[in-house]
Amino acid sequence: MSSTPLPATPAPAAAPAAPGTALRAPRLVELTADADPRAVGAALAALGLWPTPLRDPDGRVRALSLHPSSALCAPSALAALPGVARVLGAASPHPLVDALARRPVEVAGHTFNAPGGAPLLIAGPCSVESEGALSAAADQVAAAGAQWLRGGAYKPRTSPYAFQGKGDEALRWLRAAADARGLRVVTEALSEASAPRVAEWSDVVQIGTRNMQNFALLKAVGATRRPALLKRGLCATVEEWLLAGEYLMSHGCPAVVFCERGLRSFDEQTRNLLDLGAVALLKHTYGLPVVVDPSHAAGRRDLVEPLARAALAVGADGLMVEAHPNAAEALSDGPQALSGDELRRLAHHLRALAAALPPPPLSTDWVARAASRP
Ligand code: PEP
Ligand code: MN
Repeated sequence: MSSTPLPATPAPAAAPAAPGTALRAPRLVELTADADPRAVGAALAALGLWPTPLRDPDGRVRALSLHPSSALCAPSALAALPGVARVLGAASPHPLVDALARRPVEVAGHTFNAPGGAPLLIAGPCSVESEGALSAAADQVAAAGAQWLRGGAYKPRTSPYAFQGKGDEALRWLRAAADARGLRVVTEALSEASAPRVAEWSDVVQIGTRNMQNFALLKAVGATRRPALLKRGLCATVEEWLLAGEYLMSHGCPAVVFCERGLRSFDEQTRNLLDLGAVALLKHTYGLPVVVDPSHAAGRRDLVEPLARAALAVGADGLMVEAHPNAAEALSDGPQALSGDELRRLAHHLRALAAALPPPPLSTDWVARAASRP
């Protein structure tokens, strides 16, 4: 083996923020010689940032570093603060995802990022089991006024002995059931090999939780140029989730809808731990299309509606919910499936709730207001 050392790569330099540039993550605020570091720190904290003083060898505070998890803030708002000489930051690692932010994003007949718009309801069985069962489920979905029909043709199952899905024939049943009722189809691509077929028969390709960081699959789905619904990995950070979205978009996906479905937790009373904080972050801070799947989060049908209501209240654009015409006989996830009546009631309540919610203040408006204070 050659022992030639690898060339040293310089650490990425902090880039000075051009005035007015929507720099994604200001990281460092340099102070003017006469600045009062405490006053600047307080002003930054008032904008929702978490500053830490950086001292020179003489013990004088010359700059304040900003914790990456503090609120996003336009660098121009920081540069305008008294005592700030310069704002330094890093370029965003997910520019294509960032470009979806705060603008109307059309995906399969639904406009995301449209404050005040009706919520998107995605519903259907966990698995597509047979043509007849899917047809009955699609009737329920249409009767509830949902817009997208869901259902797994290829199923990621923990046990290799569990029902694995009906594959390609289920894709055809999905398409036919949706077309007959004016619905759109979202279904999961489980492998690189099946990605083109899934894209051909669906409107939106789902990336399942277990595959959020299956980079080969993300590339293959991106290459189909279909929009994607990207479920958050069981243990994924928000940044990893955004970067998975960047994989899809950098390989051709025109838009990504982020779906929070609960994280792995220590408690067994719910199937997963629904991270509504991340939903609020994606919607209000990042301004991205985001939906919530309360069915896989709760794993039990009695909690689906309460979690769905909470999801809308924190700003989700929509919900993905499992429903089955005969949950007792479902081949997967029966305990969390709603009946047709329950789905209709849920849809009715969600529309009423969405209509009653005041438009949320976006973080950027809040930052701009704070920065323009005398
Ligand atoms: C699904 O929605 O069909 C599914 C398998 O969900 P998840 O990937 O969130 O477990
Ligand atoms: Mn399921």
